Amino acid sequence: MARTESPGSLLDRQRAAFVREGPVGAAARQGRIQRVIDLLVQHNDELCAAMADDFGGRPLVFSMMNDILGSLGALKAARDHLPQWLADQPRPSVPPFDQFGATAWVKLQPKGVVGIIGTWNAPLFTLLAPLASVFAAGNRAVLKPSELAPRTAETLQRRVPEFFSPDELAVVTGGPEVAAEFSAQAWDHLVFTGSTEVGKLVMQAAARNLVPVTLELGGKSPVLVGRSADIAMAAERIAVGKAQNSGQLCVSPDVVWVHESQVEALVAALQATYAGLYPKTGGNPDVVPVVNARHFERVESYVADAAARGAQVVVAGGEPGRQAQAERRMPLRIVVKPPADAVISQHEIFGPALVVQSYDQIRDAVGAINQGPRPLALYYFGNDEAEQAWVLDHTLSGGVAINDVLMHAALTEAPFGGVGSSGMGHYQGREGFLAFSHVRSVYKAGGHDPRREWGMLPPYAPHLEGMMRAAVTA
Ligand code: NAD
Repeated sequence: MARTESPGSLLDRQRAAFVREGPVGAAARQGRIQRVIDLLVQHNDELCAAMADDFGGRPLVFSMMNDILGSLGALKAARDHLPQWLADQPRPSVPPFDQFGATAWVKLQPKGVVGIIGTWNAPLFTLLAPLASVFAAGNRAVLKPSELAPRTAETLQRRVPEFFSPDELAVVTGGPEVAAEFSAQAWDHLVFTGSTEVGKLVMQAAARNLVPVTLELGGKSPVLVGRSADIAMAAERIAVGKAQNSGQLCVSPDVVWVHESQVEALVAALQATYAGLYPKTGGNPDVVPVVNARHFERVESYVADAAARGAQVVVAGGEPGRQAQAERRMPLRIVVKPPADAVISQHEIFGPALVVQSYDQIRDAVGAINQGPRPLALYYFGNDEAEQAWVLDHTLSGGVAINDVLMHAALTEAPFGGVGSSGMGHYQGREGFLAFSHVRSVYKAGGHDPRREWGMLPPYAPHLEGMMRAAVTA
């Protein structure tokens, strides 16, 4: 893949253009977003073919839904709402100067040039959804797609210059070395989507230049199935959500907590639903392959380790055979009650396996979740309003869905992001626009300054101390 211009050179070029350009009005911002939309509308087939290649057979409908329509949703929402977000916001000024005409307001200005590093699992969405907020806020951007989705990266790098000058939007491709160089630049803001481990490296690199970061990381997103839940409905929605991209999604359900008395019913229902969706595995174009041999072996080793430690492993979907192995297509493995020291209990699965754990009291499950790192997503199934409220009040995660999974990530007008180990900051919605804007307070003096006549300037008049004391009120 040709590497045309270094991240540092693109940053310099874009920053010079940013300074030259001056204020960026709504029309210019909408125009940039529109050109990304046009790129997707004109080249979605080519991009979906690239994603299919990168995964070794990802179905068109999934790439369309997740990466094309998902990105379009974020872009259109930002395009249509940004005019309402731009206006200066008047604020109360400083007393007593306000009595003499002093005013104040908050002005939202673009930060400048934003670097965006994406992942392979959603190779367009993790670049273009943040870009929607970055452009809405009036910035320029450089994208760094994942090297594990090279066809998609190459297609984007080839198509972007047809719609943008490199001083507005550019694409840098390459592996971890380029990524490290990219995160070492003095961006005005850096967005990173990826693993928690690499996120720490990115934040360290950004800290050297005091670059603010948005970190979109992963983690073990739990599902709490309350005793009031409809088990068949919960199992169906969990299975359907888990099947998306074969579990290779940051918000994929990772561990399901269910009451001890309902474990068997839930596992049977998960198995039945999954088998109905994917009666065969090898040669089934609806099953998304695991992206590469390394990730395939990683997920297999998690399942084997849990089985070796005594966990029950239930296969859901068509049995894997030689063909399935060769295609890296796998059925869902439901790993029932692995011990805490099993690898699958400690690491994000990010593939076609799911842990089921049991509880006696739901507060025990919440206690176990709260002992671990804060997850990106948390799901609650149940019809007990009081329990639902208790779960929401006693847990913290990036986002939540109730009686479903994944759907909160599709809220194009609400912020998306993590908390603690699952990340910081967000994109989408007005909050995403604010994240990439500098919120600048402005004070404008009135026509008259009363400080001298009120004895507020040195030499201090004797009555001033009394005035100060009188102002110290509760
Ligand atoms: P990864 O951390 O391996 O790679 C992500 C990006 O980081 C790639 O572009 C890579 O080139 C780059 N990178 C590698 N080394 C780097 C370094 N030293 N400095 C800077 N950048 C470097 O993640 P992945 O395997 O592509 O994606 C899977 C992870 O991403 C999972 O943990 C998943 O949960 C998470 N994820 C999170 C979200 C979200 O929105 N929160 C979305 C998708 C994926």
